[in-house]
Amino acid sequence: MMEPKEWREAVLARLEAAGPVCQHAARYIREHNVPIGFARQSTGARWTWKGAIELSADHYSLATSPANALMLAAIVHEATHLEQGVALALSVEGELLGWKAEQEALAELGLRAKHAHWAPVTMMPARPSDDELRRTRAEMVRIAGWRYLIWLLPLRPNFWTRLVDRLQKFERRLAARSSAAAQKAETDESRG
Ligand SMILES: [Zn+2]
Repeated sequence: MMEPKEWREAVLARLEAAGPVCQHAARYIREHNVPIGFARQSTGARWTWKGAIELSADHYSLATSPANALMLAAIVHEATHLEQGVALALSVEGELLGWKAEQEALAELGLRAKHAHWAPVTMMPARPSDDELRRTRAEMVRIAGWRYLIWLLPLRPNFWTRLVDRLQKFERRLAARSSAAAQKAETDESRG
């Protein structure tokens, strides 16, 4: 089995060898040092508040081939949400763009026919009307089932998702500041 660092690097190399959608996700993951880990969850993958991607531990591990196209496409989906930011990621519009990116990534990786039943969603325009977003949400529930909590999300970013977005950015700024302070204290200490 590969070391976590080596495995992540192999995953990024695979994405970089695919088409523009995969390459874009790989660039985002590199530039933002996005960790790719594993956790138990009801979905195949998810993004986290702290800016990480977590794959389902039931389906994937360091023993999974870094060339696994379904996994790579799921990583592209979650990287899309991290790049969107919380306000857009927590909306039907953001989720639609996530499904579209995942489908495009699959095609780039040679699995165009996979998830063909997603077509009613992935064929929606990239700039959908409210009515198209309502239909998108209904199709997502039909495809993924009621346990898929898309029906809780607003169609587009709203006051609440923007507020959550601001809170997350504030918390991450604080975390960055305190880790910078801790690092400075450490270098001061080592200087004596
Ligand atoms: Zn999503």
